[in-house]
Amino acid sequence: MNYTTKEIAEITNSTLIGDDKLAVKNIAFDSRTIFSTLNTAFLAINTSKNSGEKYIQSAIEKGVGVIISEHQIAEIKNVTWILVKDSVKFIQDLARYHLRRFHLKTIGITGSNGKTIVKEWLYQSLFDELKTVKSPKSFNSQIGLPISLLEINEKHQLGIFEVGISKPGEMEILEEIFSPKIGILTHIGSAHISNFENESELILEKLKLFKDSETIIFNGDNDLVFNIINNLYSTKKLISFGLKEHNDIFNKSNWKDKNVDLIIQYFDEEISVPVQQRDEATLSNVLCVIAVLKEFNFANEKIIAKLNALKSVEMRLESVNGLRNNLIINDSFNLDLDSLKIAYQFINEYNKSEKTLILTDFVEGKDSDKLYPEVAELTNQQNFKKIFLIGQEISKRQKLFNAETYTFSNTQELIDNHQLNQIENELILLKGARKFEIEKVKNHLELQKHDTVLEVNLNAILHNINVHKSLLKPETKIMAMVKAYSYGLGGYEVAEFLQHHHIDYLGVAYADEGVDLRKNGITSPIMVMNPEQHSYDIIIDYNLEPEIYSFRVLELFNEQLKMKGIQHKYPIHIKLETGMHRLGFKTDETSDLIEKLNSMNVKVESIFSHLSSSDDLSEKDYTLEQISTFDRNSAKLISGLNYKPIRHILNTSGIVNYSDYQFDMVRIGIGMVGISSSPQVKKQLQNAVTFKTVISQISELHSGESVGYNRRFQSDEETRIATIPVGYADGIPRLIGNKVGSVGINNIKFPIVGNVCMDMMMLNIGNFPAKEGDEVIIFNANPTLEEFAEYCKTIPYEVLTSISRRVKRIYIKD
Ligand SMILES: *Cc1c(COP(=O)(O)O)cnc(C)c1O
Repeated sequence: MNYTTKEIAEITNSTLIGDDKLAVKNIAFDSRTIFSTLNTAFLAINTSKNSGEKYIQSAIEKGVGVIISEHQIAEIKNVTWILVKDSVKFIQDLARYHLRRFHLKTIGITGSNGKTIVKEWLYQSLFDELKTVKSPKSFNSQIGLPISLLEINEKHQLGIFEVGISKPGEMEILEEIFSPKIGILTHIGSAHISNFENESELILEKLKLFKDSETIIFNGDNDLVFNIINNLYSTKKLISFGLKEHNDIFNKSNWKDKNVDLIIQYFDEEISVPVQQRDEATLSNVLCVIAVLKEFNFANEKIIAKLNALKSVEMRLESVNGLRNNLIINDSFNLDLDSLKIAYQFINEYNKSEKTLILTDFVEGKDSDKLYPEVAELTNQQNFKKIFLIGQEISKRQKLFNAETYTFSNTQELIDNHQLNQIENELILLKGARKFEIEKVKNHLELQKHDTVLEVNLNAILHNINVHKSLLKPETKIMAMVKAYSYGLGGYEVAEFLQHHHIDYLGVAYADEGVDLRKNGITSPIMVMNPEQHSYDIIIDYNLEPEIYSFRVLELFNEQLKMKGIQHKYPIHIKLETGMHRLGFKTDETSDLIEKLNSMNVKVESIFSHLSSSDDLSEKDYTLEQISTFDRNSAKLISGLNYKPIRHILNTSGIVNYSDYQFDMVRIGIGMVGISSSPQVKKQLQNAVTFKTVISQISELHSGESVGYNRRFQSDEETRIATIPVGYADGIPRLIGNKVGSVGINNIKFPIVGNVCMDMMMLNIGNFPAKEGDEVIIFNANPTLEEFAEYCKTIPYEVLTSISRRVKRIYIKD
């Protein structure tokens, strides 16, 4: 927003005392969170419980020059007052006026659960398509929504706002201010139900938001909701989603089986989407996002790409004790102005007089020339002693910051810098965009190193590659799949080792992964399997080679090449669809594809496909069919090009079971870790990964005593319990508690008893003479990774990629 004091008084029918030409761009209503006083007005909100007027003084002391309040508490020099009749109504009136000035699409989200996640996911899916504004936090209430709406400006094309209520009558007021074009109702639960007569009344209250909506997208699993909406809003476009089959959008597949992609029924259409996280809430949220993206006419491939890119929303602000008596506040989850404000608010609660800031580039969103001055202004009010800036964009603007400021191009550079080790007895705030991985700085500064580690034996990886290589012709090339942080083993460390051993190709899932490798000095060719549209730019900048799987992607990528004025034929890889039904060109598209490729400034480096069931010999016919389709279509494609790209279709188990069809290259993934579907091959492989920890404490358990949350284990005899510092936050699924899973001490397995906690779990070791500090193997030889995956009811791939980043990876090689 940007109004003069005069305009604000006129719009809201209030009385102005003082300067009528002051610009107001922000309205603050909590004096503790005012970081920038420039163009800020303080609104003293009076509610039945509290009066904001007692904070006017402190807002003025901070330098705020415009006060909006029901009373003028005193005449103060240089302070302009806007006197209002009702402080809550004031902000609502202003927001209503403000919103009416713009013509943006609007989405309003209400419901009991899932609002924030759906909002964040929609934002992440849409912000690079449409200039989008959203409500910043999970602001409930009569005041939060108006404040959020005031963020809208003329550039915005879409606004996504959460609308929460807790009492009867509240929605009506909010709907008068904000009536969304698209209304979303997430899950309805029992939150606030006690304020209502019954469930229908709660539902009806929420539905008032959609009075003037054109489309309502709602979770139709609750029959009451389903019926009420269909009766009340029968004239609107209604789209229901949910787990039940009567919905317009539901899941058809066995969604608990993580080995299969979800098959989503969308009206008459089936869409296959890869979703790793399998729980009801996530599934419902995914269905909701699909519904909305379909409303925006997104193609299915694009929807899938968007879903693949979603991040989870939880936000972590953790504080840990550091070396040299420093206190480290780590917030390396996301970075935008809102979360920066929250972090600054958070650190003010600590009693450390000297503070250091480590701050990275902001990677999403606004125009840098506008953004960084705002960042600097907020930051300068915090009186940091030293500021370390990481990243090009922010480093360029070093001069904006009033402190001893140092700049670095990446996180490692800072870690290697001696300055960091000279900080003593300070608070150190780490605030960074995720991709900068500034949690590495935290590890560097942290007092206690974790005892839990994932140990990666690089020599074993090499050995395993060689075992697979021995099944192939010597001239067959090898692509090592290092996607998903090298199957969880680590970022560039594995790739660097493989490059040193002259691997032919590396394969990653996303452009960012490839960029990370390049930034760490990896020069081997890198194929990117999921080149998202917004990343074409960096793909080219970092000399990565995209997998092209549809005409849409081909066309768009070619556009980008033209736009960047690329002169040479750019290397790409063509993915053919042969039976996986995930991504790829279909048989009948081959001729058109030849024509397009020949007319474009690209060079097809390779043509490939992926087997759906190479590890399952009962599907041999299907696999051979896939291979012959691939052979035929790739040969046809090659005959239409005037050069000869290489071909590949085999993954690890393909190498083992179908080595006759190795073509020119194979793609090895899980085999590197030491996993094989063939017992004969498995015998020759070495374990490349050990997940281990040490015993924190051993205690005696008497008969009748219980262990852990909810007393799930109760012993009927004397025994001993060992507690180990690893839990579900480390990626151990909770379902392996209560004796489902075991871990090894001295090569003997002991059952996990009780519920797995967030950071710990307990073992029943009986009278085994283990001591505190002894090593515990979560998996390696006993139990093996495969056995451990079985406890978790999943496959080794998922076990490895679920181990959280906070588990320190260490690499062994000789
Ligand atoms: C992950 C992946 C591989 C490697 O598969 P493994 O069975 O783990 O060896 C090969 N090709 C593609 C396209 C992949 O996505």
